[in-house]
Amino acid sequence: MTGDEILDQIEILFPDAECELLHETPFQLLVAVVLSAQTTDASVNKVTPALFARWPDAESLRQADVHEVEKTIQTIGLYRSKAKNIVALSQALVDQFHGEVPSTFKELQSLPGVGRKTANVVRSVAFDVPSFAVDTHVERIAKRLGLAKVEDDPLKVETKLRRKISRERWNQGHHDLIFFGRYFCTARKPRCEECPFVSFCKKDKLDAYQAELKEKKKARKQEAKA
Ligand code: SF4
Repeated sequence: MTGDEILDQIEILFPDAECELLHETPFQLLVAVVLSAQTTDASVNKVTPALFARWPDAESLRQADVHEVEKTIQTIGLYRSKAKNIVALSQALVDQFHGEVPSTFKELQSLPGVGRKTANVVRSVAFDVPSFAVDTHVERIAKRLGLAKVEDDPLKVETKLRRKISRERWNQGHHDLIFFGRYFCTARKPRCEECPFVSFCKKDKLDAYQAELKEKKKARKQEAKA
C-alpha cells in the first residue's frame, strides 16, 4: 500500500482528524505545542484555558512572573522548564518579531523551547504551509506501517513521509497518523484484529528492535557499574 492509500484507509476510520490542542491564535498554538512535549494534548488542554485567560498573548506572557506561570501549568510534566521557556519565548517574540509568531522554519526554531516538531506543527496548523511534524505517534505508526525503517530517527521518518505521501496531503496526513496512533494503533493496546493494515504490519519487527535496544542499554549500564 502506498502512503496515500494508507491515508485513504485512515480517513475512512477518522474522517475528522485535526489538531486537538485548544488555541485561538498562532501564539496560543505555539505555546500549547511547547507545553505538549512529553505530555498528552488532553493534559495540556486542562491548563491552557486558565493560562490564556490570564496571559493571552506574547506581550502579556513576557511580563508574567515565572512562578505564577508554573503554578498555572503545574499539572503537566516538566512544568518548571516549560514555564521558563514560554515566558522567554514570549519575550523573544516581542523583541524580535513585534509580538507575532513568525512562519519560517529558521525563525521558529530560533525561539526558546521550539524544536523541529513544534516548528512543523505551527507552520502546518497556523499557517497552512505543507509540513510533516513527527511526534511519538507519527513515528510509531510510520514504522509499524513500513513507511519508515524501525531504526530511523525522527528526521529520517519525516523525510520518508514527505517522500511517500503527496505534498498536498502532508498537513492532514500528520493529523491522520496522530489520530490513528492515539485512538486505534496505540502503543500498548493496538486494535490489530480490526486493522486494515494487519497483512503488512511491522509491529513485531519494531518491538524486537526496541527490546534489543533496551537490552543493549541495560548491558551498558551494568558495564559502567562494574
Ligand atoms: S495491525 Fe495492529 S499494530 Fe499493526 S498497524 Fe494495525 S493496529 Fe497497529
